[in-house]
Amino acid sequence: MRKYVIMGVQGSGKGTQATMLSEDFDLVHISVGDMFRWNVQRHTKLGAQVRRTMAAGELVGDDLVEGVVKATLAEHDWNFGFIIDGFPRNERQAEFFLESYDIDGVIHLDMPDSEVRRRVLARRLCSGCGMDYNLLASSPRVAGKCDVCGGELIPREDDTEEALAVRLRDYHQKTNPVLDIFRRKEYVITVDARPGKEIVQQAIRAKLGLPPRELPMPVPDRGGQPASGGEPGAGGQPGG
Ligand code: AMP
Repeated sequence: MRKYVIMGVQGSGKGTQATMLSEDFDLVHISVGDMFRWNVQRHTKLGAQVRRTMAAGELVGDDLVEGVVKATLAEHDWNFGFIIDGFPRNERQAEFFLESYDIDGVIHLDMPDSEVRRRVLARRLCSGCGMDYNLLASSPRVAGKCDVCGGELIPREDDTEEALAVRLRDYHQKTNPVLDIFRRKEYVITVDARPGKEIVQQAIRAKLGLPPRELPMPVPDRGGQPASGGEPGAGGQPGG
């Protein structure tokens, strides 16, 4: 069984990397941010509780987040393990987590703030089906429309310059101490998050001692046209 935490500033590709690992190793993937967004989009009670805080780029209260994480982990049998993304985000959450679960590794995706800004401000979300896009990585076939459902592509409510500045400040103030706690336990592997997603994934696996990922077959070139009409997103994965 493998139990991992993946950490990194917003836009560093946490969601994409966690999904690649969870698919190949049958891990339960828990993304706290995705769970909250799902609830906000569907106007649930939980969504109403977190919406304003999220839109301002601030952290949701610890009690609420810990309750959600605990309930989600209790719901799954995670026979092969789990990978949790977006949690813990501060010292209290880290202590709660270490008291309740033992972990095998913490994946730290390292990215400078300037690159984070560039990437995050290019993120779009389909207002219909929730698919994530990154306009730097690939554009949708029709500008502003989702390739999957044709819905309108909009920025995430919290992907504004102001909210991003708050999130970056919060991240450095609150999340770096979490990394220090995990470092003392020698759990942390740090990977440069700037290269393409496949390179980052291979680096993560090499450092965790996992078998390398089989690379997808290249798509044949069609007479000078782009091989793909533009796949969704930076990997079409939930953002992070
Ligand atoms: P993310 O998708 O990880 O960037 O999360 C989006 C938003 O959800 C954050 O800006 C917070 O408002 C909230 N959130 C996600 N994870 C946590 C957490 N561990 N603690 C507090 N708030 C969180």
